[in-house]
Amino acid sequence: MSNRLEIAGRALQRPLCNHCLGRLFASVSRGLSDEQRGAIVRTSLPESPPPPSDIGECYICRGLFGELEKFAELSVREGEAYEFSTFLVGTKVDAETIEREESFWSEVGAKETESIKAELNREIGKIIEGRLGKPVDFKSPEMVFLIDTRFDRVVLDVAPLFVYGRYRKYSRGLPQTRWPCRECRGKGCPRCGGKGRMYDSSVQDLIGPVVMGYAQAEEDFFHGMGREDIDARMLGNGRPFVVEVRRPRVRSLDLGKIESEANAGARDKVEFLELRPSSRAEMRAIKESTHPKTYRARVRFQHDFDHGKLNEVVTSLDGKPISQLTPSRVAHRRANLERTRSVRRISVEEVSGREVVFVVEADSGTYIKELMHGDEGRTQPNVAGILGATCEVLELDVISIGDKGE
Ligand SMILES: [Zn+2]
Ligand SMILES: [Zn+2]
Repeated sequence: MSNRLEIAGRALQRPLCNHCLGRLFASVSRGLSDEQRGAIVRTSLPESPPPPSDIGECYICRGLFGELEKFAELSVREGEAYEFSTFLVGTKVDAETIEREESFWSEVGAKETESIKAELNREIGKIIEGRLGKPVDFKSPEMVFLIDTRFDRVVLDVAPLFVYGRYRKYSRGLPQTRWPCRECRGKGCPRCGGKGRMYDSSVQDLIGPVVMGYAQAEEDFFHGMGREDIDARMLGNGRPFVVEVRRPRVRSLDLGKIESEANAGARDKVEFLELRPSSRAEMRAIKESTHPKTYRARVRFQHDFDHGKLNEVVTSLDGKPISQLTPSRVAHRRANLERTRSVRRISVEEVSGREVVFVVEADSGTYIKELMHGDEGRTQPNVAGILGATCEVLELDVISIGDKGE
């Protein structure tokens, strides 16, 4: 302790408030505020000067600790329009103050210190907790007050809101997400008729704005568990997705109401189901998941072929790996890679003349159209190749996403 008293003695050569004195010994004991600790240190030192009568004269903080109430008040007022149940405080302090504090530590030899920002954040947080009756949350606060102590300004960092759901898509002309025009990148040009997008609507457009409206948010994002081709339907148990809205003012949403409103607007095109609150972690898991998917593909062959050979298709593909180069139809926007995927199951559901309906369960990321027609040999083996007859895919539907039973 004598060493600590020596440090305190050296420190008190300068005018210090109890906050800035106590912070020199912040890690010595728990359960006390820096201010309380500063007061104790001061009284345990014989002939120590009292704290400066004007806190503005404190050598380190220059009065910042006299402004805690004001910073809390500014934060509360700034956040009034937002619903949140937990929060955190962050502060910006001018660089000069921080440098002054750090060189003061070495000047007096203090090693058990805490930074001025850490104390400001904690003390302002305590006042806000008292005012709002809401707790500080260090891990995932719904609101962060970023207080710039130099200009008495508070910037709000509002946590986004996440909503989980599944969708079925009955339209063969609807992309999953908003697709900005390639020509003008969203500004509007002759090619897109001034709309700035390639398609009038999308699955995202049918749900995102509804969530945005109720949450009074500013921007929406759509995260799907993979995506089907625009001309493919999404049937069966539906595809999981998470809608993310940024800067929501309302967080407690009536998701049942949102679901029926979105469904009313999406009639015959898309159906939304199972809406419930979600999280960033679940959104990430959905984006990264690699569940198998089951498809139904209606294929037409250009020539008559031996129907008996369909058994050969099944035996050479069922449970087997296939190799796929990036399909020529997407090669312009994706790197040309070779990937191996497994056809977990394949069966023939219907045969009628030159038309065959296949049901295929395959690894996540398998290109099913290419598995059928072969993409000029870029997918090996492929159905057309095995049958010795070129073909085209008339219809493709996703009939099950393998994240849960049907
Ligand atoms: Zn001070
Ligand atoms: Zn355009």
